[in-house]
Amino acid sequence: RRQPSRKGSMADVPHDLKQEIQRLEELFTVDTAKLKAITDHFISELQKGLSKEGGSIPMNPTWCMGFPTGHETGTFLALDMGGTNLRVCEITLPEEKGEFDIIQSKYRMPEELKSGTAEELWGYIADCLQQFIEYHHEEEKLDKIPLGFTFSYPASQDYIDHGVLQRWTKGFDIDGVEGHDVVPPFEKALEERGVPIKLTALINDTTGTLIASSYTDSEMKIGCIFGTGCNAAYMETCGNIPKLEHMKLDPNQEIAINCEWGAFDNEHKILPRTPYDIIIDKDSPRPGQQAFEKMIAGLYLGELFRLVLVDLHESKNVKFFEGQDISALQKPYSIDASVLSDIENDPYENLQETADNFKKIFNITPTKPELELIRRLTELIGTRSARLSACGVGAICKKKGYKTAHVGADGSVFNKYPHFKARGAQALKEILDWETGRDGKALGKGHDPVEIMPAEDGSGVGAALIAALTLKRVQEGKL
Ligand code: BGC
Ligand code: MG
Repeated sequence: RRQPSRKGSMADVPHDLKQEIQRLEELFTVDTAKLKAITDHFISELQKGLSKEGGSIPMNPTWCMGFPTGHETGTFLALDMGGTNLRVCEITLPEEKGEFDIIQSKYRMPEELKSGTAEELWGYIADCLQQFIEYHHEEEKLDKIPLGFTFSYPASQDYIDHGVLQRWTKGFDIDGVEGHDVVPPFEKALEERGVPIKLTALINDTTGTLIASSYTDSEMKIGCIFGTGCNAAYMETCGNIPKLEHMKLDPNQEIAINCEWGAFDNEHKILPRTPYDIIIDKDSPRPGQQAFEKMIAGLYLGELFRLVLVDLHESKNVKFFEGQDISALQKPYSIDASVLSDIENDPYENLQETADNFKKIFNITPTKPELELIRRLTELIGTRSARLSACGVGAICKKKGYKTAHVGADGSVFNKYPHFKARGAQALKEILDWETGRDGKALGKGHDPVEIMPAEDGSGVGAALIAALTLKRVQEGKL
């Protein structure tokens, strides 16, 4: 809601703009009752994903069987194929729980790669790994180094060192990868270059986050990413997974589930989608997919914002950017979520930086009331993202019956978007109906029974830990 200190500032806003602000508030606000309804539906969809029939949330078994003990050791490579960067780390796990030894390099993920060919993608990644090894292991004759590969897309896995890409997300659109095991072409590219690496585990960033965070905090129950995309992983017991029944696993055995909750409500039953969400979906490379993610994740926040502004300019109901050339604003995906962050961080009194940026980036000079609408719009988009995100966390907690939990979260939106954490915590409180904390006393700051907190490095340390856990299972003859 609006801060009291701002009262009166809307007095100068023309009637038509005021009405548009009100319309946007109605479109983007998710009240407590709606949060609860979404969460309840979410729980049944998580359940469906675990059933034999399946549902739209994939609920992928990861073959990461349980939490680390703290006794994992060895040296591992970790590769993180995110949307923006490619990161390679070499991690040495300590004999006793303690500091990790990490060396790492970052490589840019060229934008063209996202819609190029599969060969270019694997070739580029193999080149980066080769560079890393040559740089850090000059001249050494190496045994193959085990690698944990963080591949942050939905993959079905029959084994931890294989994965069939279910579908690209986050704007990736590379032909000939969906429906195929990504490991053989990746290993082929390494072999062709003579890179001495053995892929030990293919993991999701959420699983890595869960495992890395649980290494240092035994109350960690869920790993989340709120970044370019959004998703979560948690530990399930095999007895609760009907779709694995045929494998006759020990019902008490734990296995990490990569939910792929971005796909929640692909059938559009419950999420309060706006006309702008519908355009984002329609114009994306994978319409009908990732309905939840497209309302929440960093990749889409700037685009939502842009679509609203263009719509206001074109609307007959309101004068907005009147007489200005908005051609620069007309380019799809030209606004990064960081632009929204900056606007929300700009002191409300004059919104000077916002004005300067609109001039600089779009060659548009907004009026003072337009600046106020722009600011309010970023709050609405950012708040909706945080509140909907909380539904996913609330759903896992309710499904698992967690009365208390730590949730490890990572990603650019969680780490950088202003107020995301506080807004998410507030929504979680509304969803889970907390009045008192775990000590039975009234809740104070920092005493929420379920706390979403910054995670440990999932795609580095987490990937290394999972590779170590996997090698241990191989040695114990369990794989
Ligand atoms: C992917 C998930 C990933 C998430 C966060 C989604 O688009 O489908 O696998 O965990 O983004 O990176
Ligand atoms: Mg990432």
